[in-house]
This record gives sequence, C-alpha cells and structure tokens, in this order.
Amino acid sequence: MGGWGSGPQSSEPDTSEAKRVDIRFMRKHGLLQPGYSSSLHWTCRGEPSGYIRYTVAQDASALTLDYKVQLYGGDWEPMKYTVPLEAMPCRYGGERQYFHCPNRQCARRCEVLYSHGQYFLCRHCCGYLYPSQKGDRLDKLLEAKRKIGARIFEDWDGVDGWCKRKGMHWRTFEREKRRYWQLEDAWQGAFTDRARALLGEGVRL
Ligand SMILES: [Zn+2]
Repeated sequence: MGGWGSGPQSSEPDTSEAKRVDIRFMRKHGLLQPGYSSSLHWTCRGEPSGYIRYTVAQDASALTLDYKVQLYGGDWEPMKYTVPLEAMPCRYGGERQYFHCPNRQCARRCEVLYSHGQYFLCRHCCGYLYPSQKGDRLDKLLEAKRKIGARIFEDWDGVDGWCKRKGMHWRTFEREKRRYWQLEDAWQGAFTDRARALLGEGVRL
C-alpha cells in the first residue's frame, strides 16, 4: 500500500503506517458537531505520518472524508466519500454517535475505521471482505500478514499501533516489516478491485 494524505510534497510515501479513524476520540474532543470541519493527523514515533480532512454534515447524519492516497508508486489520487453517522441513545441519557461502514454492502455500526486500500472501512471489511474458502490464496496472505503484524507491532490492535514492538531488535523489525508490507501489497492488489465493485459509483478511484 502507499502513503496517506501527506500530499505531493512528500518525497517518498511512508509505507510503515496504517491509519484509523476512531469515533471515540472524536466524540471525546467534540469533533462531531454539525457542520464542523477539521482534520485528523497521525504520528508514528513522534513524526507526522499523514492526515485526512473531514466535514460533518449540517444535520450530523454523515461525515465526509477527504484525503489523498498514492498506491503502488503512482500519482496522488484525491479521495472523497461519506461515512454515515448514527446517534444512538445512551443508557443514562443523551446520545452517542457511531459510524456506519462506508462499504454499502456492509454498513455495520462501528467505532473505528481502518485504512485499507484507498478506503477507510470497518474491521470486518478489512479482515473478511472475501468469503473464506479453505486454501484460498487471499486468506493465506491475510493470515500470514496478521501473524507478522501481531508479532512485530506494538499495540497492533490499539489506537496507537504500528510502531515497533518494545524490546524487538530494529534489524529484525525492519526485515519483518518489509515482509509484512509485501504481503499487504499482494493482498491489497486484489482487495482494491473488490472494494471498487462494492463501493460503486460516487467514489473516485
Ligand atoms: Zn464494513
């Protein structure tokens, strides 16, 4: 996969990152007010590693994501699409907003969207977009990728994941990370075709 959101001024896409949009963070900091427009920035080991812009609809029914993505060393492509928002009543009063996965065939309610291919999708779509078949090449790639990811990245499933696991030698980390991204590229090549078919019109590819 390529770099995220750092724009054409970036000399080299940073492939060591994966981004996520966490609605828990956005709720906590009041970033989901109707009509609100801002950006989310990521860092890794203290260095900026990309950002996206977003706008909340006036009726707070959706979030529009707006960013640039570069895949396979090609041109930077603008991406813009909406993520539906839903306000659910809380048990003790008030309400709480959730995302719905922008993959229209999924649309699951969720709190975190993960970057995959050019998109931000729910965890389910990132891991199980393809029907699981025994011996399926994509499943094998995915499984191999997950094993490495869980081993080498600190807090791989958490909000701040994707940095080197504490105590791991840098050389080992770099070697395994290269292997991880080779698997990621192999898998996402096929994933992108599938995502395009699922997300359909209105999404610039
Ligand atoms: Zn989904």
